[in-house]
Amino acid sequence: MKFRTRAIHLGFDPDPQTGAVVPPIHLATTFAQPAAGEWREFDYSRSGNPTRKAFENAIAALESGVGGLAFASGMAAIHCVTQLLQAGDHIVTGQDIYGGTFRLFHKIINRAGISVTMVPTNDLDAVEKAFQPNTRLLWLESPGNPLLTITDIVACAEIAHRHGVLVGVDSTFATPALTRPLELGADIVMHSATKYLGGHSDVLGGVLVVRDPELYQRLYFIQNATGAVMGPWESYLCHRGLRTLELRIREQCRSAMAIAQFLAGHPAVRRVYYPGLPDHPGHEIAARQMSGYFGAMVSFEVHGDIGTARKVVNSTRLFHLAVSLGAVESLIEQPALMSHASYDPEARRAHGISDTLIRLSIGLEDPEDLIADLQQALAQVA
Ligand SMILES: *Cc1c(COP(=O)(O)O)cnc(C)c1O
Repeated sequence: MKFRTRAIHLGFDPDPQTGAVVPPIHLATTFAQPAAGEWREFDYSRSGNPTRKAFENAIAALESGVGGLAFASGMAAIHCVTQLLQAGDHIVTGQDIYGGTFRLFHKIINRAGISVTMVPTNDLDAVEKAFQPNTRLLWLESPGNPLLTITDIVACAEIAHRHGVLVGVDSTFATPALTRPLELGADIVMHSATKYLGGHSDVLGGVLVVRDPELYQRLYFIQNATGAVMGPWESYLCHRGLRTLELRIREQCRSAMAIAQFLAGHPAVRRVYYPGLPDHPGHEIAARQMSGYFGAMVSFEVHGDIGTARKVVNSTRLFHLAVSLGAVESLIEQPALMSHASYDPEARRAHGISDTLIRLSIGLEDPEDLIADLQQALAQVA
């Protein structure tokens, strides 16, 4: 069956006891055992919870994996992956990655003796050259953040596997409705469920899905031992979010395309970053890797300076001025002052994040209303 049909029905069979078409939320932290030394599927909620399991199974099926692991946040999920490594190991990652991942890699796991090299992962030679004998993980993000760089997952996975390196993909911006990295050769796919999976800015969560049962067991061991699991309420909300995921993201992508085209023709705009525009360097890879859609994130630079961009983001009325993304309401932010403020200014510049960059998360409002709002905000600086 098609993605949307499966997304609606996975884990939502009527309850055999009551006929309820929505499963109950299991709040129990502990589960009675049949006898001492005998276990059923669940014994303690950190180790496993039926509501969390239902979400994990659903996302695993949608990502074509063997198992899912749900965490308290996206960062907890990425941190779990890094715990596969040990002192002396090395990670290769992209330059256009989530600010929190940059911080985790450079300010937390470096303390454990793990080093990181950042390369433009849309440059396959640079990826290949970055591998060292101690490289254990290639961590990709496509589309990237905040420049929407497109990385060829098939090609990168092929290079990494030739070097015996594990490939993880933060697929938060793409969602399984558009890209399924495990089908493209990745070993691990990760989502900040806080974004499109939840979809309504009301739940914090993260998830990993893998295709190798042995890797699943290793990650499960770390998750259970370190404990940053997703709670039952959050699990239910994320599971429910999957049911409308494809409808939401497709409509959001359509609006994003219209908005990117509007921005590209606006005199106050210096440059638009949207993989759906034919002049985006990753356009062709995106067209085949993202099911013909291009995501619902749009970034652009305005003419002027940091103050000009600040004026624009402060002037929208419909777009909320906020970090985060992926929900039904549209958001606007200035990476230099907000999402990527944890970068040193030099690192920001080196990664192409200019002071005048503005990032939009396109929601589900009518695109005409969104364009009108941007029009009036840009008129403040034109
Ligand atoms: C938000 C986000 C994360 C981190 O997820 P949290 O749920 O905020 O911990 C990681 N990667 C990307 C691409 C994100 O957008």
